[in-house]
Amino acid sequence: MGDEHVDVLVVGAGISGICAAYYMQTKCPDKTLAVLEARDSIGGTWDLFRYPGIRSDSDMYTLGFRFRPWPDAKTIADGPSILEYVRETASMHGIDRKIRFHHRVVRAEWSSEDARWTVEVERTDTGEALTLTCSFFFVCTGYYRYDQGYMPEFEGLERFEGRIVHPQNWADDIDYDGKRVVVIGSGATAVTLVPAMAERAAHVTMLQRSPSYVVSLPGQDPVAKALRRFLPARLVYPIVRWKNVLITMLVFQLSRRRPSVMKAMIRKGLEQRLPAGYDIDTHFKPRYNPWDQRMCLVPDGDLFDAIRAGSASIATDQIETFTEKGIKLASGAELEADLIVSATGLNLVPLGGIAIAVDGEAVELPETLTYKGMMLSGVPNLAFAVGYTNASWTLKCELTCEYVCRLLNHMDERGYAACTPRKDPPVPAEPLIDFSSGYVLRAIDQFPRQGSKAPWRLYQNYARDLVLLRFGPIEDDAVDFTQAEPRVPVAA
Ligand SMILES: Cc1cc2nc3c(=O)[nH]c(=O)nc-3n(C[C@H](O)[C@H](O)[C@H](O)COP(=O)(O)OP(=O)(O)OC[C@H]3O[C@@H](n4cnc5c(N)ncnc54)[C@H](O)[C@@H]3O)c2cc1C
Repeated sequence: MGDEHVDVLVVGAGISGICAAYYMQTKCPDKTLAVLEARDSIGGTWDLFRYPGIRSDSDMYTLGFRFRPWPDAKTIADGPSILEYVRETASMHGIDRKIRFHHRVVRAEWSSEDARWTVEVERTDTGEALTLTCSFFFVCTGYYRYDQGYMPEFEGLERFEGRIVHPQNWADDIDYDGKRVVVIGSGATAVTLVPAMAERAAHVTMLQRSPSYVVSLPGQDPVAKALRRFLPARLVYPIVRWKNVLITMLVFQLSRRRPSVMKAMIRKGLEQRLPAGYDIDTHFKPRYNPWDQRMCLVPDGDLFDAIRAGSASIATDQIETFTEKGIKLASGAELEADLIVSATGLNLVPLGGIAIAVDGEAVELPETLTYKGMMLSGVPNLAFAVGYTNASWTLKCELTCEYVCRLLNHMDERGYAACTPRKDPPVPAEPLIDFSSGYVLRAIDQFPRQGSKAPWRLYQNYARDLVLLRFGPIEDDAVDFTQAEPRVPVAA
């Protein structure tokens, strides 16, 4: 593969990589394309995570691709169904044949002289090192490390005589039938695991340091259900998708502008679902405002039902130490357990850990600014697919893919070989994500930053991005285009 060149090299075969390949072969059919994937399978997140109850926490009408209606009645879907959907999409469009598995990209260097990237790859099965070149580098590697989840340094961990597992490393031989389980965490994974494990365990305790906002959603969309009676699925899909986009945007805006109204609505929902007299203030009243961190959704209130049934409970406390039998808490209480699940989150990593260089100089990501939420200042012919934090990932990912195709076609029409967002944008830099969640704060200083205004700002707003990315001009003052031959900068 040493001498091989492709026009577009996609890295990653999760939702984003499949989406990128689909748009590339549909909108830029003349471009040669390869997809490199470090693992041996398609699906990324939806193939990696295998813990009980694994499911989406946003609706499938917006997590699904615009070009392929989500086929199921469930709007909050289980992991295996999502994986099947992604795999089927890849095979329906022949994308699976373009994926090279066991190919981990470790480094990529741009040469302005050759107007191409040289990409260094490590085979994860044989250890062999390979290189190939590409004209455009499209990084679809998600946002977290695959080799390990985040595990805090718990006092006395080695004393515990039962089993401790991180959900990212769930194994088939983990037996929790009739067992006492403690799930540490208060995020999306914890609220998914607790009701799912409570179906078979003796009891499940969710141990959280501090509460999150938890909101119940119908597992099946009532509007979609009603429309499906007299409309074909392909028409129902875009209608429900837009309904959900608008509701999500409304909820986010309301949370940011009128947090007290949102808090009151969430509280009302909790009071209706939880047993009378339940201590909502201790277990479900966060110290932050709604959407300062990602909100947890539970389908049909399954977590609340498990609490009501007595098969699950919540302890809001601090871990003092692990003991032989379980966990001793700061309050003095002790939680006995046979199995402890540490749903303590992800380790974030930018651009799949790929080292980037431009003309021999290493690119320090925190010194770059994102351009239109998909390219980097001073880095030519590179885009990355990152989704929304306040709505489904695929919504932004798909707009990014469409935009990259428009960009490449525009460059071909004008004879441009390279497209570079300006190196030192004249705008103040800010962190890429304004979330207060621990997993974001732990890693945000390794990530690129965003600017204070367009086009350097990451607007977490689908409607705005849609106008900008699907219909907005390709050329602006913030990007330099370079002609293929001769190499002369062209004024924007
Ligand atoms: C448990 C869980 C539940 C989630 N639920 C939702 C949800 O309901 N809604 C939502 O919007 N988002 C959700 N997310 C976020 C989710 O990750 C995205 O929705 C989406 O699946 C991301 O797709 P992706 O293809 O960008 O990244 P991933 O799914 O992470 O796929 C990235 C792929 O790139 C490969 N890769 C990484 N680095 C390299 C490299 N250097 N070389 C080669 N290959 C590489 C990986 O092996 C992987 O296959 C969830 C995340 C988790 C962890």
